[in-house]
Amino acid sequence: MEQVEARCHFRGNQSQENLSMSDTADLAEFRQEVSDFVAANCPADIRARVASYHKIGVEDQLAWQRILAQKGWGASTWPVEWGGTGWSVRQRFIFDEVQAEFDCPPAPHQGLRHIGPVLIAFGSPEQQQAFLPRILDGSDFWCQGYSEPNAGSDLANLGTNAVLDGDDYVVNGQKIWTTQAHESQMMFALVRTGRGDRKQHGISLLLIPMDSPGLEVRPIISIDGWHHLNEVFFTDVRVPVANRVGDEGAAWTYAKFLLDRERLGPVHQVPGGAVLARRVRELIETEVTGPARQGERAALLGRLARVDSRLMGLRRLGEEAIEALAADRPVGLSPSVIKLAFGALFQELTEIGAEAGGRRQALDFTPPEQGNHPDEAEWLPNFLYQRARTIFGGTSEVQRNLISRRLFGN
Ligand SMILES: Cc1cc2nc3c(=O)[nH]c(=O)nc-3n(C[C@H](O)[C@H](O)[C@H](O)COP(=O)(O)OP(=O)(O)OC[C@H]3O[C@@H](n4cnc5c(N)ncnc54)[C@H](O)[C@@H]3O)c2cc1C
Repeated sequence: MEQVEARCHFRGNQSQENLSMSDTADLAEFRQEVSDFVAANCPADIRARVASYHKIGVEDQLAWQRILAQKGWGASTWPVEWGGTGWSVRQRFIFDEVQAEFDCPPAPHQGLRHIGPVLIAFGSPEQQQAFLPRILDGSDFWCQGYSEPNAGSDLANLGTNAVLDGDDYVVNGQKIWTTQAHESQMMFALVRTGRGDRKQHGISLLLIPMDSPGLEVRPIISIDGWHHLNEVFFTDVRVPVANRVGDEGAAWTYAKFLLDRERLGPVHQVPGGAVLARRVRELIETEVTGPARQGERAALLGRLARVDSRLMGLRRLGEEAIEALAADRPVGLSPSVIKLAFGALFQELTEIGAEAGGRRQALDFTPPEQGNHPDEAEWLPNFLYQRARTIFGGTSEVQRNLISRRLFGN
């Protein structure tokens, strides 16, 4: 009841929110409420790992998700009938900001922000009942089975095959670069169930339990030394037809719906970027010292100032896009622009961090699984990890193609 009242109240402030980034009295109260809860409930050991850019595993993410779900804050972007908070876009940003300030782990976004909205929009009532509550309460972690060795930028080229056999599809083929497949309970996968005039036709979306017989996960260790990525092999894996989302062969529509959300995902990381920028500034001030390094220090601080101002601009752009998404208005070029700009921005930010703090770490760098420097921030692995930003979710070149096609035609 208390929450419903708060919700109506905040909705009334929407136009005011558009005019100003500063909190109104109601929003300040909301910020305080979220801060008090987060400070009291987000486990200290998890926060310490996040603060030092050590690897955050599924366990940490789900532990925090369970706590948020119990509070009723598990899905800030979902409709209220599916356990969403009903918060305004501005409130969601405040929630993201507070979480970044307190170094909370990232949301399990593959479930909450990718397949969750797809199920809400296109899933059957049975699928919604079976999967949405388990995403919300942190029971299931999901991974994304899109890319294949011959289908990355050209995703529609995918060849993992699903053949109907009674009430099941029998799946054979391979996915690659599957983030956290080794820690997931479920995968949403694009598979080929037929061929049409165009290669985008004949693709279906299946929900596949990761413990299915015939499914094998093999690790890929990335340049940062951590194990996020995997290859996933399917040998006669049986998936019930009931686990196909929407119509057979029509998944390209759902895949694009999902990719738009994936490419807007970095907007939720703006607050984390601001916290990171602040830490990089502190790092420059403590590590790049002395008269001999004065020029270097000034150059790093200059680069950082440019990153700061771009972050502010992108935040506004991101808010507008997410407002449009929430109101079912077309998002146009925003997902590609945001994906492109954030990739470059986070790379620049972590490059400055690595230049200021990573040099010493580079000298004794051995690829870590749980952190090579347990007592300090991992500037170097974080810098290395961020190289992938301009690749995952669609490369920067592909985003530029999409933007230019939209602006100038084919
Ligand atoms: C850290 C990380 C996590 C990932 N997580 C997942 C995941 O969880 N699930 C998943 O399904 N996938 C995931 N991916 C895969 C990612 O989506 C693909 O790597 C990406 O789409 C690029 O595909 P590719 O690797 O096959 O490269 P390719 O498509 O082979 O591209 C190679 C190069 O050619 C360029 N190129 C290709 N086509 C064009 C073109 N038409 N015009 C101009 N340049 C072009 C690309 O920009 C790139 O530089 C992840 C990747 C990384 C690095």
